[in-house]
Formats: sequence, structure tokens, C-alpha cells
Amino acid sequence: MGARTGIINAYSDYEDVLRDIRRFTSLSNGSDVLTKALLGNYALLDRGRPLEDLRNSIFLTALSQNSRCPLCERAQVCALDHFLPKNHFPEYSILADNLIPVCERCNRLKGDECDRVGGLLMFHAYFDEFPDEEILFTEINIDKTVSIRYLLRHCEGIDDFTFKRVEKQFETLGLFDFYQMEAVSELTDQVDLYDETYGSLGDSGLRSTLSALARGAERKGVNHWKAALYRALSRSAEFCGGGYRKLLTAPTNATLGHGR
Ligand SMILES: [Zn+2]
Repeated sequence: MGARTGIINAYSDYEDVLRDIRRFTSLSNGSDVLTKALLGNYALLDRGRPLEDLRNSIFLTALSQNSRCPLCERAQVCALDHFLPKNHFPEYSILADNLIPVCERCNRLKGDECDRVGGLLMFHAYFDEFPDEEILFTEINIDKTVSIRYLLRHCEGIDDFTFKRVEKQFETLGLFDFYQMEAVSELTDQVDLYDETYGSLGDSGLRSTLSALARGAERKGVNHWKAALYRALSRSAEFCGGGYRKLLTAPTNATLGHGR
């Protein structure tokens, strides 16, 4: 029947659709019956149902890549996100390429997000490379305590459209605030290490250690939140010169709010 051929064609067009979402017309436009049938297919991935193996193999692939959520690079994966939301793109409700293991938080925040007018999609874990130019930065401010703030900065190697996609991903997933809180927790956990290093090796020793931690984190990507944090700490003469001690006496308070 027509629907079957249409869906097979839609599957083979998937990568083209990702390249320009603005031109996409859903196969099920105007057909409630077809939409319902296509959405109903998703339940076939449940335990004991015919497509259970498909769900398992997608999660197994994620496990082999350390199980971190590709959207926030922090939490463990536990849910399947429809990159193109199934409510708007029911033909892709069980296409493996459209099913991405993510964490609960990102799955909830992303929801049905899809900019079909502007064509600004978030980064697809299977088909897109997140920019490897340095665009995520952390600002360190030392006053009564150590405050941190994440921000994005455009750089020459990135076109405007790609940078807008990065901004959209950060805003949709609340990543500025999320990384800020993760960084606060990291600083609190590691302050004894900073103190011991400074005690035995001085500020240059602390700077080297922080640089080494930055390089280690950069293996996960130059824009990993921890890499940006440690680059900024290692570049802060005030932090390396003893400013870190504020962490010992005053609780770190992240200045929550927009990171831009
Ligand atoms: Zn996540």
C-alpha cells in the first residue's frame, strides 16, 4: 500500500531531511489514522514486544561509548530521544537513526523541540560533529567566594548558523546553569587537592596541575564543561595564587542566570 512505500522513502530521505528540515512535509499530514498507527509502532520496542532487540542494541552501543548523554555529556543515558520528535514526524517513530539514548533531564527538556521554520536543529549524535574550536568559556570571579559562569563565544572558524545551533542547544537544555552547578560540585570535591598542590608546589605547581586536568578533560572534547572550567582556573593568576582558598572558607555560590 501507499503508506508503506512512503515510509520507506522517508527513511531513505532521513539524512536529507536533517540537512534542511524546512522543506519537510510529513507523510501523515492530515491523516489521523496513519499518525496513530505510526505512533503506535513505538510501543513495539517495549520489553517482550517484537522490536525489543532494536531498543537493546541502541542502548548497548551507548554502553560501549561510556553511556554519557550526548546532549549534556554529563549524566547517564536512560531514555530514548526522538531527534525529530515523533509527534511531528511520526514516520520516524521507530527509525533507529532517529532514536538517541539520552539522559532523563535532556529528554524532558528537549521534548518536542524542533524549529521547522528557522531550520535550526540541535546537534544529532550520529550525524553531526559538535564544533571542535574553543567556544565554551568559564569566567572565574574571586571575591568573598569563587564564582563561576559559563558562556559561549563565537570564533572565526565557525559559521553563524552553526553557532546559532550551539546557542539553541545550550538554551533548550539549560546547559549554562547545569554546567555551573556541576562545576560548583567539582570545585567543592577537589579543593583539598588544590590546597595540597599549592602547599607543596606553590602557584606554578597548582597551575600545572589544573592545566593537566584541562588536558585530560579535553579528551572528551575541547568544549566539554570540565575542560572549559580547568582551562579558566589554570589561566587565573588569582585562583592559582591562593584565591582557591576562598573555597575553604565560603561556600561556592554560582551566579545563576543566563550565561551570555
Ligand atoms: Zn543529558
